[in-house]
Amino acid sequence: MTDQAIQPILRQVSRRKFLRQSGSLAGAASLLVLVAPRPVRGARVDSSQVGVIILLGPPGAGKSEQGRRLTERHSIPVISTGDLLRDHVKRGTQFGLQADPYMKAGKLVPDALMNPILEERLSQPDCERGFILDGYPRALAQAESLDSMLKKKGLSWHVILLEVPTERLLRLLAGRRVCPHCHRSYNIHFQPPKNEGRCDDDGTQLVQRPDDKEEVIQRRLETYQNETQPAIDYYSAQGRLIRIDGAQTPEKVAAEIEAKLGVQ
Ligand code: AMP
Repeated sequence: MTDQAIQPILRQVSRRKFLRQSGSLAGAASLLVLVAPRPVRGARVDSSQVGVIILLGPPGAGKSEQGRRLTERHSIPVISTGDLLRDHVKRGTQFGLQADPYMKAGKLVPDALMNPILEERLSQPDCERGFILDGYPRALAQAESLDSMLKKKGLSWHVILLEVPTERLLRLLAGRRVCPHCHRSYNIHFQPPKNEGRCDDDGTQLVQRPDDKEEVIQRRLETYQNETQPAIDYYSAQGRLIRIDGAQTPEKVAAEIEAKLGVQ
């Protein structure tokens, strides 16, 4: 995305109080929620006991990259609600057919569609030891239903908030390319693949997601501010919010997450 293309979007987004939370241009925030089995805050916990890790945040903030790193480090599956939905769309299921227009418009898929898809996935045996959630909850009601789901499973949770400057976020979204095979994410500006246009892991031709097109990006950022901010406030009120600078390199972000998690 060029500077000329970014400026009007920046003006639009900030006019709609996207930066309400911080009052600065560096206000776009990404939320990373970490859920672990009743940990003591600040205490170091064994990696095998990390439990459930939930990643939330504005589109483009690096949730999937951090999910990939966390899944490798802690050997628990990463569940991306966006990927689950895209899979349903690709397979042409009833859920997928109904979710598709919302996704194309940059809006949240209604809970009546989203929650059963997620619950079905979380009931799989590979989630028994723990899992990483990427992209859920994205609204207050989802945060509340997740609370009760995790309480039933006997788990508790921590929240980490990644803060990313708005202008960088726009470049991250517009420059994002994904592998349609393994879902690994790259960025042509900040994190290009070793071979241009090809996935480092499997060599598949990288693609741009349809909702990473300029016209949809603005809507998605507004959706984040309007729908997800209340979930951030909810976790903040619970005293669970840990702020992290998400504009650092993925390596530094990952290291800070591990340090703040206190995982050995
Ligand atoms: P993502 O890949 O996480 O950016 O998600 C892509 C799209 O999937 C979003 O713009 C929404 O339309 C939909 N989506 C993903 N997660 C959720 C969720 N937790 N609730 C509702 N819709 C979602």
